[in-house]
Amino acid sequence: MRVLVTGGAGFIGSHTLVELLGQGHHCCVVDSFATSSPEALARVRELTNAPLDAHEADIRDTARLTGIAEEFRPEAVIHFAGLKAVGESAERPVDYYEVNVGGTLSLIRAMEAAGCGRVIFSSSATVYGDPEYLPFDEAHPLKPINVYGQTKAMAERVLSDWAGAAPGRGAVLLRYFNPVGAHASGRIGEDPAGIPSNLMPFLAQVASGERERLSIFGDDYDTPDGTGVRDYIHVVDLARAHVAALGRVAALEGAEPINVGTGRGYSVKEMHAAFSKVVGRELPYEIAPRRAGDIATSVADPSRARERLGWEAAHGIEDMAKSIWAWQSANPRGYRG
Ligand code: UDP
Repeated sequence: MRVLVTGGAGFIGSHTLVELLGQGHHCCVVDSFATSSPEALARVRELTNAPLDAHEADIRDTARLTGIAEEFRPEAVIHFAGLKAVGESAERPVDYYEVNVGGTLSLIRAMEAAGCGRVIFSSSATVYGDPEYLPFDEAHPLKPINVYGQTKAMAERVLSDWAGAAPGRGAVLLRYFNPVGAHASGRIGEDPAGIPSNLMPFLAQVASGERERLSIFGDDYDTPDGTGVRDYIHVVDLARAHVAALGRVAALEGAEPINVGTGRGYSVKEMHAAFSKVVGRELPYEIAPRRAGDIATSVADPSRARERLGWEAAHGIEDMAKSIWAWQSANPRGYRG
């Protein structure tokens, strides 16, 4: 298929491109490179030996996006582009609404102009908020507890209303749990700007000596060892869920939210232990106060993904830890190296 990929140079975008190109899809990337690097795309080309068009453009620039879409004529769009730092979203809410919600509106206009009615959206389990029950299934109420989650829930709403308004439109809303890991080659991976706010990139920088120690945000949660439990999903599994979703979206009428997780939770201490084992030494850590807005446990019910996409996660935490370390040790300063 001809697939337009917004935010293709990002962490999940770049891994998805490798899988798409590997399956023979034709891809065209739109990325502003505001929080990503063109080097990621160079490495995708190197890994796949496939041609890949890329345009440096902001998704809010509707005229530009429309021109690109009209020229490329995508059969489907995978929409990754957006801002994703929960903490920052509280400080810069309007930027988050503008890029994540406004950018989605702009993209829809460009798709309409190009006659494309098929989209896969990069959503997040953050849309659920505090669990009313666990594991989270797709019917769980959406009550996001931070600005970032609000923007994802709003963009889902926009895409659902758009997809339901006319025939020939489908939107698969992929709700990611906690994506971690890297391509097994160590050539592409997660490259956060500044101090990483997520657990595994932070731990990776402790391992490579960029940071002194991990702060574990709270060990008094109602979980088996007191630290937060999350459903970590290997980025290559997540990438493959997008390829599976392309098959699904082609004949879909309306919108369909689908969780992308494993159904299995690991605590911060378990992730720390798994990563320390791969690195070969106990990585330093301290217990710190809870982080505002964190919940004790977040785990997916992944059954819908199995039923409707024929997809399930294949990689466990050892693969996650090994691949992160392969990426981090070869690229301690990410793509800026
Ligand atoms: N966490 C931690 N120290 C860090 C970063 C995260 O203890 O430096 C914990 C956090 O409290 C949560 C888990 O690790 O329980 C995953 O956090 P992350 O920010 O990676 O993802 P989130 O689930 O918040 O989206």
